[in-house]
Amino acid sequence: METILLKNIEIPDLDSIDVYMGQGGYGALEKTFALPPEEVISMVEESGLRGRGGGGFPAGTKWKFLPKDRERKIYLICNADEGEPGTFKDRQIMQYNPHQLIEGMAVTAYAIGAHFGFIYIRGEYDWIAKILVQALEDAEAKGFVGDNILDSGYSFQIDVFRGAGSYVCGEETALMESLEGRAGRPRLKPPFPALSGLYGEPTLIHNVVTLACIPFIIKNGPDAFRAIGKPRSYGTRVFGVSGHVNKPGAFECPLGISLKSLIYEFAGGIKGNKGLKAVIPGGISSPILLADEIDLEMDFESLAAVGSMLGTGGVIVIDEDASIPLIAQKAAKFYAHESCGQCTPCREGLNMIKILMDRIVMEQGSSNDLEMVMRLCRYMRGSTLCPMGDAAAMSIGTMIRKFRGEFEELIHD
Ligand code: SF4
Repeated sequence: METILLKNIEIPDLDSIDVYMGQGGYGALEKTFALPPEEVISMVEESGLRGRGGGGFPAGTKWKFLPKDRERKIYLICNADEGEPGTFKDRQIMQYNPHQLIEGMAVTAYAIGAHFGFIYIRGEYDWIAKILVQALEDAEAKGFVGDNILDSGYSFQIDVFRGAGSYVCGEETALMESLEGRAGRPRLKPPFPALSGLYGEPTLIHNVVTLACIPFIIKNGPDAFRAIGKPRSYGTRVFGVSGHVNKPGAFECPLGISLKSLIYEFAGGIKGNKGLKAVIPGGISSPILLADEIDLEMDFESLAAVGSMLGTGGVIVIDEDASIPLIAQKAAKFYAHESCGQCTPCREGLNMIKILMDRIVMEQGSSNDLEMVMRLCRYMRGSTLCPMGDAAAMSIGTMIRKFRGEFEELIHD
């Protein structure tokens, strides 16, 4: 099975620049400087690469939104604020293969005309931030980042910036607020970051995995990337499978792999030979699937067709003995804690949902409480500034809709 991101991960010390170079690392960057920037952008566009952070927006199209005016300051940001519960894809790449990310950023910077870049990493990943800082120092010493890269006359600096542990900083505009030194709260859009992002300048922001795919595309050509996966969902994805499985872990598979084989082949099946109750397919914000819905392909369109989403690729497996109301209560507590407080439906709605869910789980709730949670989820949909309100409403609302009996069992009117 062709892999792109975790390909050489079992090689000892892959995080050292010499080992990475020994595997052909930084070859894509050398090739890049022989090409005009427009050709690099076309290659990425032709590859069909879509954002791996959750949205699935075509990367090449996003690059083209940036102004062509090379005199303007353009920023490149790598979003490494991996805070979605059940998600651990970026961590694998940054910890074991940091140079692939740095190389991807340097290629991208050259293509879009950026001379400054940031890796915004969640504060909890402190040990990985240190790995990245070391990798950047080594890359600069070899002339792959910094001033006059590979004697091309092109310069690109990267800084590692540690976040302070806020979930909502995974949203691109909240992340930029945080980078600028303010509280990480999402901005009203438009303007979009491509026109007015960091410090009001055009900014391109991508997730770690998206940027780490770039060296493969440049080195092997867009067709090689399109040969993996399935139409409209090209390439691979790192799926982090956790929960009630025998072998939890991060597995790189082509997009379109069946969810069933991810759970039963890659992750070794359900722990204790129990039955499967449900699966959350892409981090806690993706709507839950019933056990009889898992016979599907893991790609953007197939997940959307069953009312869920590929999200972050964090697959949470739930066995037959687990309590869905308890999971919904934990999710409500998490979202209520992480709400930045700007929008009333999110701030008040989530706090109220949390109170009601606590009451239901403690068997002190009423049918009215359950109805109120559903109503609040409906009100929150589409009425908040950033996607968090929607995500919370979809996640909790779907758990209640699909497992209503379990919630009703806890209610004694
Ligand atoms: Fe903040 Fe929630 Fe509004 Fe997002 S939806 S801006 S997290 S209050």
